[in-house]
Amino acid sequence: MFCGPEGIGRKTMAECFAGALLCSSGGVVPCGQCQGCVLLKSGTNPDVIHIRKQEGKASVGVEEVRLVQEEISTAPQFGKYKVLIFENAEKMTVQAQNALLKTLEEPPPYIVMILISSNNSQILDTVKSRSVKVDFKRYTNSEIMEAYKRKSSESTDSRLLCEYADGIIGRALSMAGSDEYGKICDRIVDGLKELSGGSGRALCNFQNLFAEYSEKKELFFFTLYSILRDISVAAAYGRKTALQNAQTEDKIYAISDCVGYHKALKCLEQVNKAWRMAGQNVNYKLMADALSIRIQEVFYG
Ligand SMILES: [Zn+2]
Repeated sequence: MFCGPEGIGRKTMAECFAGALLCSSGGVVPCGQCQGCVLLKSGTNPDVIHIRKQEGKASVGVEEVRLVQEEISTAPQFGKYKVLIFENAEKMTVQAQNALLKTLEEPPPYIVMILISSNNSQILDTVKSRSVKVDFKRYTNSEIMEAYKRKSSESTDSRLLCEYADGIIGRALSMAGSDEYGKICDRIVDGLKELSGGSGRALCNFQNLFAEYSEKKELFFFTLYSILRDISVAAAYGRKTALQNAQTEDKIYAISDCVGYHKALKCLEQVNKAWRMAGQNVNYKLMADALSIRIQEVFYG
């Protein structure tokens, strides 16, 4: 059972492990040449089976586990092993987990099962006790920076990157090779400036911004939060302070002159509250629209 937060590398590790098991060279590192390796690289090795949540479904049910059991009953086609990767083990229903128990206890010798989980409290004790737990620890900031630099030649604000990554390498790498953070940052600052200036289209524009970045919620909220925090710092300490978003400093000071410390702080609370709600199956658009309205209300309150 590979445990750890989303983006920490559990799936990557599971695939590497599967690669090593399915390579016929017998080495620890897959050779990349044999049939098993070639098929794995193209994603068509029938001896690796991914069990994941079906689109539109909230959980992995008994039916999926039944299908797995059929797979288990037949020997591998190319190598010595068949590797089953359960991508969201914590999303398995109680019935599905129970259905898996017997297989977990006495799998055929050629079966290797990897359960990837980000929330162990959702996994039955009986499943846990039949698995070997491998914890994926968060990376240190210097490891995060090293991995980032290996993937991207662009320089970045390392303090912000590490703060956003929070020890999770996938988050840092998602920022590599794109100017996404810079772009989101500029657009949010412009949006807030417009909101604070009272332009008629400002609210609608700001709401659209949320919608535009709905696939990048986490980065968007993080950026919005860090900008509002900069606004509050700028308001409290004046122009001598070094802000995190150095590239947009002038605009941030302009907003802070207009909004002030207490309102910026109130907005931060609202963003926090909305982000907590976003994790609870709330309609994202409704939440984002309401948050935009609240920020505008705070600005004018
Ligand atoms: Zn190989």
